[in-house]
Amino acid sequence: MKKIIFFGFLILSTFCFSQKKEMMEAIKNRQPDKALEIGNKLLGTDPNSFETNFLFAKAYNEKNDFNNALIFIDKANKLSKENWQKSWILVEGIQTFFGLGKIDEAKHKYQNAKNIEGTKNSQNELKYWGILLGLDEIYNDWKVVETKNLTFHFQNGISEEEIKNITSTRQNAFEQINSFFNSNLPKKIDFFVWNQQGNFNSYLNKNLGFTKSEFCISHNRMNQSEGHEIAHNISYWRNAKNQRTRFINEGIGVYFDQNKNDKLKLAKEAYQLSPISIKKMWQEGNEVDESLLYPISGAFVEYLAKVDKDKFLQLSENQTYENAKKIYNGKIDKLIEEFTKTLKNNSR
Ligand SMILES: [Zn+2]
Repeated sequence: MKKIIFFGFLILSTFCFSQKKEMMEAIKNRQPDKALEIGNKLLGTDPNSFETNFLFAKAYNEKNDFNNALIFIDKANKLSKENWQKSWILVEGIQTFFGLGKIDEAKHKYQNAKNIEGTKNSQNELKYWGILLGLDEIYNDWKVVETKNLTFHFQNGISEEEIKNITSTRQNAFEQINSFFNSNLPKKIDFFVWNQQGNFNSYLNKNLGFTKSEFCISHNRMNQSEGHEIAHNISYWRNAKNQRTRFINEGIGVYFDQNKNDKLKLAKEAYQLSPISIKKMWQEGNEVDESLLYPISGAFVEYLAKVDKDKFLQLSENQTYENAKKIYNGKIDKLIEEFTKTLKNNSR
């Protein structure tokens, strides 16, 4: 899930107007590196601009580089004079501090931002982060249960029996999955359980479940597998500088979902209904339908994990096809070919 970005909020000063606008556009188009490049030129000529420093913070947050974001949060904070500026920088700081594991500071920023009259957009974004990170008052009556590796948040109306079942199965899933990845998570996973079976959640304005691994946060429906979202969190933290692809990342979610089903059988069914090139799905998987990508990627990850666990662990950190070519010493195409042959074959 991508962060949403509200725009059209800055009253840009006329000085370096077009470059600031370009920097803003780059962030909007999710090109934080390009934004930083433009920003570096701007800082040379206009180091004390609130907008430029604020946009730096935003670009680094987009990269999940919270240490660098913090430098610019501080700078922009010192340069902020108007309420709308103070509001924006407080809102931006919430994710920075949360990402750094400084949850109390994030809460503090959130509360401060609530007490400032910002713009309509800054207030919308404040609401969004509050709900995503569990800071909003809608959670006041949710039940919190801690286990060794997870902090559960249960919406009202979920029975004690279900709570017991969910907490024990998910804690179990965590241990199973992390015995494979051996990751160090910076905090417990905040595991939100919404009392709903359907996909769409109107508070978050998106479908459940999903995970924001950089914050160790998952939002879940009642009827989800035990391990899928937990696997996203754990696999991310094997190496926080990971490079993920949808194909391998979702394959990890599916393979480690803890369902006792036959992954290969499901993959065959999906593949035989609509045959698709594995390499293509890997390289251009963003548009491929879930009903096809999930089962096939799950079986493919199972296959690779069984062929060579160490190599697969390396792949989990940089999931691109190009990296697989290196890890598997030029043999990845051969492996894909073999796997595809299996998918085509009706007898096992
Ligand atoms: Zn997933």
